[in-house]
Amino acid sequence: MANGTKYTHDELISRARERAVEENLHSFQVERRRLYLVKSRKVAPGTYHMVRVHRNGQVTCDCRGWERWSVCAHQQTVVKRLEREAARRRWWLGHQLELPELGESHEPVEHARAA
Ligand SMILES: [Zn+2]
Repeated sequence: MANGTKYTHDELISRARERAVEENLHSFQVERRRLYLVKSRKVAPGTYHMVRVHRNGQVTCDCRGWERWSVCAHQQTVVKRLEREAARRRWWLGHQLELPELGESHEPVEHARAA
């Protein structure tokens, strides 16, 4: 790194998460749990970064920050969204077990399209 400061991977992740909140980044779903777009605020304002979710669970971005550190605010925006959706699925599954008479659908209802 240019200034000689070394960050651990965990520190880079928490910094990227803070940036995602500070910059109020939002993800737009292109393909469910596959491909998302996140609007750039700093690196190239107004353009969108493509964030991909790979089969092995890795989440990658096409910005320079990700290329360099394998972590970026766009990627973490999508990671947080996936965590939120997973938590919602668990909540739904729990409630379906408790209330089996509520409908036949085993798929949770998708509410907001863009988080
Ligand atoms: Zn990025």
